[in-house]
Amino acid sequence: MKLFEQEELVIYNSTSKFKEKFKSINEGSVGMYVCGPTVYNNVHLGNCRTFLSFDLVFRYLKHLGYQVRYVRNITDAGHLENDADSGEDRIAKKARIERLEPMEIVQRYTIDFHQTMSLFNALPPSIEPTATGHIIEQIEIIEKILAEGLAYVVNGSVYFDVHKFNKNHSYGKLSGRNLEDMVANTRDLTAQTDKKNPQDFALWKKAEPEHIMRWSSPWSQGFPGWHLECTAMSTKYLGKQFDIHGGGMDLKFPHHECEIAQSEAALKTNPVNYWMHANMLTLNGKKMAKSTGNNILPHEIFSGNNSKLSKAFSPTVTKFFMYQAHYRSILDFSNEALMASEKGFNKMMEAYKMLSVITSSDECNFDASTWKQSCYNAMNDDFNSPILIAQLFEAVKIINSAKEGTINLDQNAITMLQDTMHTFIFDVLGLQDNLVANTAGDHQLVGAVNILIELRNQARANKDFATSDLIRDQLKDAGIHLKDGKEGTSFTTS
Ligand code: AMP
Ligand code: ZN
Repeated sequence: MKLFEQEELVIYNSTSKFKEKFKSINEGSVGMYVCGPTVYNNVHLGNCRTFLSFDLVFRYLKHLGYQVRYVRNITDAGHLENDADSGEDRIAKKARIERLEPMEIVQRYTIDFHQTMSLFNALPPSIEPTATGHIIEQIEIIEKILAEGLAYVVNGSVYFDVHKFNKNHSYGKLSGRNLEDMVANTRDLTAQTDKKNPQDFALWKKAEPEHIMRWSSPWSQGFPGWHLECTAMSTKYLGKQFDIHGGGMDLKFPHHECEIAQSEAALKTNPVNYWMHANMLTLNGKKMAKSTGNNILPHEIFSGNNSKLSKAFSPTVTKFFMYQAHYRSILDFSNEALMASEKGFNKMMEAYKMLSVITSSDECNFDASTWKQSCYNAMNDDFNSPILIAQLFEAVKIINSAKEGTINLDQNAITMLQDTMHTFIFDVLGLQDNLVANTAGDHQLVGAVNILIELRNQARANKDFATSDLIRDQLKDAGIHLKDGKEGTSFTTS
């Protein structure tokens, strides 16, 4: 029996605004599409939060035994500076400024994205398609929408006719808007002279002579509208209707609303059963964003090289900080919050390791099965990672009490604590033990720190406390914390 047959998962569906029991279209398998990054810049920590939120979803679905096809695209064309179909292509603009080919920009920032995700120990998606690799599929969808009479061609560009579509469908159902209100709230018409209505959106844009990212189409040499790529790629790899579509909250409108309209117009299906939206990471109370410069980059956190930080923090601690908030809550970034997360994470890992040395008793004062189920209940409740982490801290309390001898644990309880903590900490949350060397680089670090520990031991043996304290303090500044114990000195990194 697979776990998903016994655990009842509920997911908050942005469309209904309710938590709904999750039932996949095909039993035992899940199709999930998440909008990927526009690769014209290094990903900031806000972007990472959204991708890590869906890594958690991916990991838990897999843990439950589903076969998950996770598609996350790379936007390498078509995303204009301004969401309302105007301005320069973001990648082309960066290429112009840096005097590079657009594909050099795409390559550079795709690599940065992959490296960052792997430092965070996020699993790669099953398929990672690009917009430029799916121009033919996008043109086919435009042809279908035109054939339905729900788009029109003006001067080589094609626009989706939102007003006509809205006669038989409801444009705005995901974001809870209605077209009348949108019309009432729109003032600026001047920039959009090709469109019949300002609410219409581009499916294809004729390229200006200076626009270098261009493809042939029945309408002009041009490029696809940003919303279209996700409809083309999700449909191609997951079918006309699939289980989960995710992205950041800021993509709900217009991007996801337009995806629904495109699918309903071209394929006559409502494409997605569960829409999931991750909330924003803020800095100083404002959304982290590439465009405003109000952001922090992952490598600044890992190196401590940013004036907002007192020290370096590891990817695991940063991720632990993010998972201490539910994915649908706004989370504000701060040095203090990271410090607290680091302390909490280290405490959790120490307790977890303690389990292997705790002596079992014939008696047991802890109901490990009920506790284990409460970990599942937390994740079953719309992937509630903060509640899961609270449950893990319940275990920390129990382990520390057992260590102090104030309660007893039998071997069954110890084994269940060990297995369950391992499952949730490493497999589901995807955290990594800072103490364990995972890569060749880590092994070199462990080797180097061990040499310093040895030098410190010699200094202490010679009563040269100035040197021994200097080694400890300078390592601490570099994010390496020494801990003296009965078994000798160990270290954690942060
Ligand atoms: P972009 O590369 O701008 O298309 O963004 C990639 C993903 O990051 C999208 O799903 C956005 O919704 C998400 N995102 C952007 N800013 C933030 C933020 N401050 N917090 C969380 N997610 C964000
Ligand atoms: Zn998308």
